[in-house]
Amino acid sequence: MSEKRQLLREYFGFDTFRPLQEEAVDALLQGRDLLMILPTGGGKSLCFQLPGLMLEGVTVVISPLIALMHDQVQALRANGIAAAMVSSQQNAEEIKTVYSDIYNGKLKFLYVAPERLGSESFVQMLAQIKRNFFVIDEAHCLSEWGHEFRGDYRRLDLLKQRFPDTPVAAFTATATRKVQRDILNLLGIEEAVQLRAKARRENLHLNVRLRTGNGRMQVKEFVRRFEKERGIIYAHTRKETEELATYLQDAGFNALAYHAGLERQERLKIQRAFIYDDVDIVVATVAFGMGIDKSNIRYVVHTSLPRTLEGYYQEIGRAGRDGADAHTLLLYKKGDEINRRSRILEDRQSTYQNTQLEKLKKAALFAACGECRHRRLAAYFDDAIDPCETLCDNCLRGEIEYEEVTTKAQMLLSAIYRSGQRFGQNHIIDILRGSQNKRLLELGHDRLSVYSIGKEVPKKVWEAVIDRLFEKELLELGEFAALKLTFKSAALLKGERSLHIDKERLQSTKEFQIQKSDNPAFEALKTLRKELADEQNVPAFVVFNDKSLLEMSEFLPQNKLQMLSITGVGEVKFKRYGKKFLQLCQELAKKDLSPDG
Ligand code: ADP
Ligand code: ZN
Repeated sequence: MSEKRQLLREYFGFDTFRPLQEEAVDALLQGRDLLMILPTGGGKSLCFQLPGLMLEGVTVVISPLIALMHDQVQALRANGIAAAMVSSQQNAEEIKTVYSDIYNGKLKFLYVAPERLGSESFVQMLAQIKRNFFVIDEAHCLSEWGHEFRGDYRRLDLLKQRFPDTPVAAFTATATRKVQRDILNLLGIEEAVQLRAKARRENLHLNVRLRTGNGRMQVKEFVRRFEKERGIIYAHTRKETEELATYLQDAGFNALAYHAGLERQERLKIQRAFIYDDVDIVVATVAFGMGIDKSNIRYVVHTSLPRTLEGYYQEIGRAGRDGADAHTLLLYKKGDEINRRSRILEDRQSTYQNTQLEKLKKAALFAACGECRHRRLAAYFDDAIDPCETLCDNCLRGEIEYEEVTTKAQMLLSAIYRSGQRFGQNHIIDILRGSQNKRLLELGHDRLSVYSIGKEVPKKVWEAVIDRLFEKELLELGEFAALKLTFKSAALLKGERSLHIDKERLQSTKEFQIQKSDNPAFEALKTLRKELADEQNVPAFVVFNDKSLLEMSEFLPQNKLQMLSITGVGEVKFKRYGKKFLQLCQELAKKDLSPDG
């Protein structure tokens, strides 16, 4: 066995490399610069941790968030690897200890935030020690074309200037080609080995639905399927996170709200509770999760349209990092796009208004699209892949049944036109439904020829048709969210073209098809994991991730050798935790609690 594979087995407990991992490891072993684009959960850490272990010297990892560093350091230590971090949260004494460990060659991995490179004494220290290579995590933060640009990342051009001979390895989960070029240029690593995975997660099931009402019933229905599992629900406003969390608590779920308005201490407490499996559901604004490297998140819900697909992709990517099945649900309405759009337009400071509007439009088109969602997402990131066939709502539905709605569309366009293209969607629907709304009467819109001609059509149907008109660019938004005709609209009004809509969108929401298997052995293993994790004050996944426990529950290993063949069980972890799990598996086998038993 090669040294590489031996260490893979011994320290990480894996038998094989995942796609592209070995290529990355080899590039670093050969002393090349590297840029790797691998979806969240694809296994980026291993790509630098393994060569870091094999090469002499310290690997310096630059990572944007303290929580993220903290988790990685813990995970490394759990595998018996010497790692430490330097951050603003440590005092001078602690930092000194870390430095002396580095000087004494006791450390293999050092995690730091990018701003640390602004400190000359830190750079001096780097100059004096033996470095094997630099790692830049979340490298998309370097580019203004990305979605999370961070000024302090720009400092990183210093690495090649000061240390031209030390290789640089940049990692990110998402990057369009443009961002990819930006990263290479800014870091000065144009000759780097570039590894780019197809943007698709084989274990991630994507679901998108139109939101009915405030969507709470849909959310509840969805999370009900994941009893005792962990999930994140992203809501748009602070208020919404709190209301939804309360709603779920009242329905008996173990849920908490999280947003930037909470005290820092409170936020840390919630994060910690989540990481340690003490709370099942966090209802959060997008402020939550970036630093959270938790592998057993089983689902991610968005209660409204995300602002960008980069953000969406990253947020859903937090689910299922252990490789076991995970589910996502996105609820949206046309109104979401309108709201976001006016927010973007209000913010006159922003230099990236057009980019933002463009990204928003792509997100809205993604939500409404009828094609494979994985394929669509991949295309957004400039990748071409085949339809997933079984991993998204659109593929699972198969043939779409269409219904013609040309007449309704004509009614809508004509109501918009006759009222002067100055009103929003609710007002237009009110006209068609013959509302007695005071403002409508004051405006004299009850005297329009279209007034009340669509009385018997439910509001929801009108909304669906409006959405469809947007998708087909037969409608656009004017100022103050007014509906306006486009150059294409006339043809429809004149009856020269027709409009069809997916029948389901005119009906009420559909049930989700998620099967949940009953697996008492898995539950028992999870309980043991929680005990051990609490005892040692580490997050559960540091002990073993869900994938490992699932495998154990399936195979119920009966001896050390069998146990070592489980994904994620290496020598070090076996010594630390393996015996207890082995014992439990032996007991479980006697009770015959395996899933098929
Ligand atoms: P990323 O940083 O790309 O999001 P991680 O490095 O956190 O991904 O890895 C995600 C999960 O995949 C972790 O639970 C890790 O233990 C697991 N993993 C990584 N490499 C392998 C491998 N070769 N075989 C099996 N599991 C792996
Ligand atoms: Zn699909």
